[in-house]
Amino acid sequence: MSDTDSTSQSDTLRTPIVAVLGHVDHGKTSLLDKIRGSAVSEGEAGAITQHIGATAVPLDTVSQMAGALVKPDDFDLPGLLFIDTPGHHSFSTLRSRGGALADIAILVVDVNDGFQPQTEEAIDILKRTGTPFIVAANKVDTTPGWNPQQGEPIQKSLEKQSKRAKSKLDESLYQLIGELSDKGFSSDFYWRVQNFQKNIGVVPVSALTGEGIPDLLGVLMGLSQRYMKDEMAIDVAGPGYGTVLEVKEERGFGATLDVVLYDGTIHAGDTIVVGGANEPIVTEVRALLQPRPNAEIRTEKRFDKVDEVRAAAGVKIAAPDLEDAMAGAPVRVVGDRDVDEVIREVEAELADIEVTTEEEG
Ligand code: GDP
Repeated sequence: MSDTDSTSQSDTLRTPIVAVLGHVDHGKTSLLDKIRGSAVSEGEAGAITQHIGATAVPLDTVSQMAGALVKPDDFDLPGLLFIDTPGHHSFSTLRSRGGALADIAILVVDVNDGFQPQTEEAIDILKRTGTPFIVAANKVDTTPGWNPQQGEPIQKSLEKQSKRAKSKLDESLYQLIGELSDKGFSSDFYWRVQNFQKNIGVVPVSALTGEGIPDLLGVLMGLSQRYMKDEMAIDVAGPGYGTVLEVKEERGFGATLDVVLYDGTIHAGDTIVVGGANEPIVTEVRALLQPRPNAEIRTEKRFDKVDEVRAAAGVKIAAPDLEDAMAGAPVRVVGDRDVDEVIREVEAELADIEVTTEEEG
């Protein structure tokens, strides 16, 4: 890994993996873009790291972006890793050891549009997988009479709004809280929530103006630190465990795997077992690849080779015989274990993965 990649250098605690879900056009992509963009505009080189299929935002950057909402001394989790492909289709096919790959989710809901079919589907999936989530009540800037406050925490922005705009927004937010209640979730404005295990925090945001983004990051970080620390404690140096995001043909490498590693370490040269269409594939890692920063899309050298990758991270794996590998399938480093044992584990995990026919959300 590059030395700027402080999010995956923790010895004992890994980065929580964050997924973004919600109805089409409610702003999932814009929200991810805004988080990436604001991290970059905070200025520091290496403030965020673009992984394969994911974006890592280290704690220091989260803290710079969230201001008073996140004091680095209060945290020992190394940051947040956002899966770049939003939508509940990818969410529900991405599993880890039978659970959801994402540790935590952002459910994006357009404040004006409220609950829509794919919002309902996303909620059902979050419920089924027991994934903790927060609600990003997006597009607050479209409230009639809104006075935009670029990148400000939502409370600060609210202070600058007219009574009328505030009450319009409140109306939409309370409707949203009502809709969540109809689905069996007790929720409230995030700043009123005492126990995030009992109540869903609603964070008013705008992916366009960045209002509320500091709050969103603060709440994600706080929630992970408070309730997920045990799950984040991993044997970082142990054999790597990951999930295939995508199987992709790359010039010069043949079929490659875009993987999110959620446990342990993977090295170039490691023997791995990957879930395949017919049977588990046993192969050897030829190269571990990360996107080359600022690479031109069309140039040949889009990737940098790295010797090892530690969880949590996104990485591209080049290896022979990956043509039959499947999105959603497990990837495991064999390490000093018996390869047949690892094959059996991969088979068991594959049998557990449900086939999903849901539409991309
Ligand atoms: P997705 O389908 O959920 O990924 O939604 P997109 O991110 O593609 O957003 C759908 C449309 O809504 C685009 O035209 C965005 O520019 C717009 N949009 C997203 N977030 C906001 C927001 O906070 N405010 C406003 N005014 N428009 C937004």
